[in-house]
Amino acid sequence: NESSGSGGEEKLTIGTEATFAPFESMEGDKIVGFDADLLDAVMKEAGLDYEYENTGWDPMLVGVDDETLQAGMAGITITDERKETYDFSAPYFEATQVIAVPEGTDIQSAEDLQGMKIGVQNGTTGDEAAQKLVGENSSDLSKYDSSAATMMALQNGDVEAVVTDIAVAQHYVKNNPDANLTLVEDDENFDQEYYGMLLPKDSEYKEQIDEAIQTIMENGTYEEIYQEWFEG
Ligand code: GLN
Repeated sequence: NESSGSGGEEKLTIGTEATFAPFESMEGDKIVGFDADLLDAVMKEAGLDYEYENTGWDPMLVGVDDETLQAGMAGITITDERKETYDFSAPYFEATQVIAVPEGTDIQSAEDLQGMKIGVQNGTTGDEAAQKLVGENSSDLSKYDSSAATMMALQNGDVEAVVTDIAVAQHYVKNNPDANLTLVEDDENFDQEYYGMLLPKDSEYKEQIDEAIQTIMENGTYEEIYQEWFEG
């Protein structure tokens, strides 16, 4: 191990897409949420100085690939396809996809999405899951560049359903009662997912970050942050 433990000399820039509450959203010019708090705890534990930047989703993926960003923290699912290009930290959160629909909809399972207008965030696991159901090039599939934009489209009636991450959909439905949305779960069609920090291939920080995640999970800090954002 060549690391001398002298972290803190360089400042890491970490990208995100901050319309993904309760994981990351903007409060004034500050990024707040479960991911923001966990990231802060992990980086402090690892002794790494960092800046958390709302780059947007696609620029985050590009930036971590070309290493202008040293990481992404954005409720990012660890997938085999992404692992071809990136490394990931240890997993820190379990997720799956869910279908958000207006109350009173006929949609009861993922199969009912056939022929429906579906909104997804471009390049996400929700996008992938929807493509699997209705076909890659389906004209029924509308792609947006943020999570917030998919929910807007659903509320405006531009799409009839949105496929997105369950905790984000639950948070949205709970906090926007006037939108009259409900959620359809389908664990036969939607896989279990795990979030990790997105890292460049062979990131020099992976080991430090993974050790910090493990410590934070063992010493009660993770649980505290979880309580604050999910059971509060
Ligand atoms: N977990 C999903 C993915 O990684 C969505 C992430 C997001 O929209 N921020 O594709």
